[in-house]
Parts: sequence; C-alpha cells; structure tokens
Amino acid sequence: MSSLSKYLYMIKRFGNSLFTYNCISCGKDVGGRCLCKKCSEKLEPAGDYQNGSAYAFYYDGPARDALLRFKFGKDYKFCFDTFCDWLLLGYEKLGDKDFYAVVPVPAFETSETRLSSLTRKFSLLANLPFRPELLRKIRKTEKQHNLYASERRINIIGAFEADPSVKGKKILLVDDIFTTGSTVNECASAFYDKGAEKVCILTLTKTKYKK
Ligand SMILES: [Zn+2]
Repeated sequence: MSSLSKYLYMIKRFGNSLFTYNCISCGKDVGGRCLCKKCSEKLEPAGDYQNGSAYAFYYDGPARDALLRFKFGKDYKFCFDTFCDWLLLGYEKLGDKDFYAVVPVPAFETSETRLSSLTRKFSLLANLPFRPELLRKIRKTEKQHNLYASERRINIIGAFEADPSVKGKKILLVDDIFTTGSTVNECASAFYDKGAEKVCILTLTKTKYKK
C-alpha cells in the first residue's frame, strides 16, 4: 500500500468510525452493530401482544434512534443485522410458524424499499419464503405519520391489493412500526378479501400511543 493510499485508507476508517460504525444512539464505538450494549439494554420489549401480532420493542429511546436512521439515513443498511435480530425476536413470540409467505408492507410504484430489503434478509434467516409480489399498493397515499389517527384509516382504505393465490394460505406481514395499526390492518384486509386463512403481523417497533 502506497503512503498516499494508506493515508486515504486511514481517513476513510476514521470517517467510518465517526459516521458509520458507532452506536446510533450514544455515539460510542461498537464495531458493526448499530446499538452498543448499554443502549441495547435500554430497549423496552413491547409486551402488549394481540392474537397473531408481535412487535420487538417499544418505539422509544435507542429503538427510536435506530428506526429513524433506518428510515431516513443514507447508511440504513448499518441497521440490518440488528433489525434482523429484532424481527427474529418478534417472530419467536408468534405462536404461528408455518407461513406460506413473508410479505413486507409495499410502497406505491417501488418494489425494492428499505423495508423489503430487510424483510428479504429476515426471511432468509428465518427460513421462510419471501414473496413481496403477493401484495401491491395500488394508489398513492399521504404519509401516515403526517396524519391524525382518525385520518390514517381513511387515508389508507383500499390502497392495497393482494394476489388471488393467497386463498387458504397463512401470511406473515412485516412493517417497521405499529402505530394505530391502520396500515397493517388494511394490508391484512386485502389478503382476507382474497381468501387468506390468516394474516399475522410482525413489526420492529410499536408506539405506546393509545387509540
Ligand atoms: Zn450506545
């Protein structure tokens, strides 16, 4: 390695340690995981499960910091390993296992999103079939986080269409955050409209928001 390329490499490493490989929440060097041990210990498991739904952690503190980086940061893939762990954790809490397909909540006119890349990775680890094509978003909607709870449900009504092949099948639907449940419930309705036997919901986080 020439002294110039060594110099450039050192700068790159320094940059990575500042911007990429440090704990998203507190900034401490953690080498590869997006949250350090101390911040991970602060994560609060989301316990209020309903039938067929599981969430890893409450959307608060370090979980919130990590999710915001995943949604809006350029280096969102930094969260993938940690978030796959979170999805596996939530999946373990679901009573159901034998799914016909794992499907991420889709975006309008975009097949490959951050969520779908993450869900693909999780499906592989959980040894489940990843089938994003089974659910389509058929119209553009307002961003849910800009709306009040009562507006969210109306905003999303009829926005999704499921493939007829889901008839009689069990589907695992994945999203990043469960707030009022409007989005995932609308997706589940689209599957039930096509005769799905059961739709389970798995999200990385859940807000403590009460309806
Ligand atoms: Zn930390």
